[in-house]
Amino acid sequence: MQHSGKKLIINILPATEKIFNICYICKLQNNQIKTRNMKSILDNRPELAHEVNKVAEVAGYLWQKGWAERNGGNITVNITEYVDDEIRNMPAISEVKQIGVTLPHLKGCYFYCKGTNMRMRDLARRPMDNGSVIRILDDCASYVIIADKPVQPTSEVPSHLSVHNFLIGKGSPYKASVHTHPIELIALSHNKKFMEKDVATNLLWSMIPETKAFCPRGLGMIPYALPSSVELAEATIKELADYDVVMWEKHGIFAVDCDVMAAFDQIDVLNKSALIYIAAKNMGFEPDGMSQEQMKEMSVAFNLPK
Ligand SMILES: [Zn+2]
Repeated sequence: MQHSGKKLIINILPATEKIFNICYICKLQNNQIKTRNMKSILDNRPELAHEVNKVAEVAGYLWQKGWAERNGGNITVNITEYVDDEIRNMPAISEVKQIGVTLPHLKGCYFYCKGTNMRMRDLARRPMDNGSVIRILDDCASYVIIADKPVQPTSEVPSHLSVHNFLIGKGSPYKASVHTHPIELIALSHNKKFMEKDVATNLLWSMIPETKAFCPRGLGMIPYALPSSVELAEATIKELADYDVVMWEKHGIFAVDCDVMAAFDQIDVLNKSALIYIAAKNMGFEPDGMSQEQMKEMSVAFNLPK
């Protein structure tokens, strides 16, 4: 047979469709060239690109773990240390936006923020299409977007920025804040017993030594408050004085650390402990957990804060 089915189909296509196909291919090629030529704030700034790529990597983990359904979760990172004069002179690509609160320690600061309504699974592949870099203006009460695209930051940006303001104010080296929805940890918060101070912390620490070592300040518990509310933001800041990771009852986790990867790791070890607890319960018994003496021994051996 000379003519395969495929060839036959091509031969019967009208000329206009052939042209359309060619144009369609050309358009794709043009788009690729356009994307390649479009300047990004990350170009020739390996350190800044490294920080933003870490956000993308963590966003992928959050999605894979099932902690980031739809547009769930937010990440903001203080990137001021990577900002050069060229960035300082970049024009705004958005109108001036009010934060809703004055944050004096953020003067001259720059942040990478996940975009509102954007999905972590998309941010994982294209961080500068699903997030943006903002500049805090000198009034410390407003900001503009400067790169790469006018992607509106997360609706949680006032609470995230309030946390960064708090961290800078107390001289903390922490630069990243992560909010996400870890399934097993949220499940714990549906039981009043675990909402009591340090009950969940002690249970989770006792499941495996690493959790105490790598989440050494434990898990602070915050009673339910309306998402995005000033009340929730204020309660979060109050609790972060004593914890790096806090639970928003029946909602999710908010964590801070030096970078986004470290903040993710703290949540990850806590959730691992919750999974060990569930596994033991599923095997039909209440796990013993490490004893208070064993946990005290850990604190001394590894010089832990609690
Ligand atoms: Zn949430």
